[in-house]
Amino acid sequence: MRVLVIGAGIGGLAAAALLSKRHQVVVIDKNDSWGGRARELYLDGYRFDRGPSWYIMPKLYNNFFRKLGAEDLTLIPLKKSLRVYSSKHKIDLYPNDTLNREVFEILEQGGAQKYDRFMHRSKELYDLAYRFIYEDYAKLNPDILSLVFKNFDVLLKNTDDYVNSVFRSTMARNIMKFHSVFLGDVPWRIPAFYSLLIPSYLSENVLYPKGGMYRIVDNIIRNMNNVIFLGNVKAESLNIQNGLVKNLIATINSEIQVKFINAQNSNLPEWISIQGNQIRVDADIYIINHRKNILMQNGSEGRAPIGVFLMYLGIDTDNPDLEHHNLYFSGDTEAHYRAIDRSTHIPEDFCFYFHIPSVTDPSAAPRGKHSIMTLVPLPKNIRIDRAKMERKILDKLEELIGDFRLEQKKVLDMEDFENDYLDRSAFGLSHILSQSAMFRPKNYDTKVKNLFYVGQNTNPGIGVPLVLSSAIIVDNIIRERYG
Ligand SMILES: Cc1cc2nc3c(=O)[nH]c(=O)nc-3n(C[C@H](O)[C@H](O)[C@H](O)COP(=O)(O)OP(=O)(O)OC[C@H]3O[C@@H](n4cnc5c(N)ncnc54)[C@H](O)[C@@H]3O)c2cc1C
Repeated sequence: MRVLVIGAGIGGLAAAALLSKRHQVVVIDKNDSWGGRARELYLDGYRFDRGPSWYIMPKLYNNFFRKLGAEDLTLIPLKKSLRVYSSKHKIDLYPNDTLNREVFEILEQGGAQKYDRFMHRSKELYDLAYRFIYEDYAKLNPDILSLVFKNFDVLLKNTDDYVNSVFRSTMARNIMKFHSVFLGDVPWRIPAFYSLLIPSYLSENVLYPKGGMYRIVDNIIRNMNNVIFLGNVKAESLNIQNGLVKNLIATINSEIQVKFINAQNSNLPEWISIQGNQIRVDADIYIINHRKNILMQNGSEGRAPIGVFLMYLGIDTDNPDLEHHNLYFSGDTEAHYRAIDRSTHIPEDFCFYFHIPSVTDPSAAPRGKHSIMTLVPLPKNIRIDRAKMERKILDKLEELIGDFRLEQKKVLDMEDFENDYLDRSAFGLSHILSQSAMFRPKNYDTKVKNLFYVGQNTNPGIGVPLVLSSAIIVDNIIRERYG
């Protein structure tokens, strides 16, 4: 079969790699390079992952690489899972429940026991969810229904209420709520069910791929069979007739980039025709890996409220006490979340995440120096004063980690996301209840038989391990239908 994958994000690449074992695959992307939001950035000896930094749910990565016949990455265990700052605290958390429960006991009386209970339930939820990760939720599986029934409380309750009902201290609450943002929304909109993610980044063996998150992309590419990548090619329209996509029309943005990946020859197949700056592709199977997968199924953009302000910094510092994953919580985190929810300006004192991979992997920066990525979640549709944001982040960072000399800097925000991905949102369709599981866009089109969807806007959802899982789901369905 001739397969066209539209979008070379992790989802598109993962699907292309799996399908390339049995089919002829062409991947197009509007950008000149592959990896989408998970691309890499080099600034004069400093290396950064533009997007993902947390390697959570390692079992899902293992499953994917095993299915692809690829070797696992070299993973470095982190000594500390997370450092959290506020005006009052600087607290370290560990990939170890025994140590973390002591921290929670310091945060509030009875905190250790509350921590135990909370994490125990989170782990149970993770084990349950894992059983259904590759499911087609359209088929009403009795096991899924019984799971829903047994866990009604955490499906109907939101993260904010759930966490507030267990913990009293502001810091404990903040630590147990912030994952909501990485699921694309604010804590009172994300079901408490998603506390299932917390052990994976807080208390279990927290890992980091040697050489950075982009090694995931490298590993996928390395294990493709004979795939053609066409970069700078933007999909414009699908020609759909009688419930089938007949062809795709795309335009060449600037100079087309053609790469033959692990190919025996370097000829374009006859099902790709190029005329001037237009390309027509006549494939048998079409897989969409970008924002269109919401629009095609929902007819609207759905709820995807979060944009980001990202800074990539190369610094020289004498401070030996830096950590890999860090969060700064402002005095009023709720005000920050409320601004995202209402699409208004965030408070002057805002929360942010910062990542210093060179703490774990010195190859991320020149000898003795550090690469830092800072991420401020924002409402995606506001206009921001970039210079002011930069200044505030640099000042705050200096307050938290001490003086440093800035050697390199690059900034990305929602305008760049719009240009690069035609989508201002950072994380895509959020995991509110009405956009989760059976309510999330499926991995196949219900009206167009040869049209499939992968990536963060589809099932199972946001984040690299889930996006890899969406490729497994698509590969399974295509195998059932076409072999
Ligand atoms: C700042 C940030 C931090 C994150 N942190 C983490 C983390 O720590 N851990 C984690 O697991 N996940 C994280 N994520 C989420 C994770 O990176 C994404 O869920 C994942 O990379 C999305 O992959 P995707 O394949 O769905 O989409 P994308 O990466 O968005 O790929 C879609 C591709 O489609 C292309 N495209 C769009 N329109 C067209 C068109 N018309 N024609 C052709 N091509 C088109 C785009 O150029 C893009 O390459 C983070 C994301 C961001 C932005």
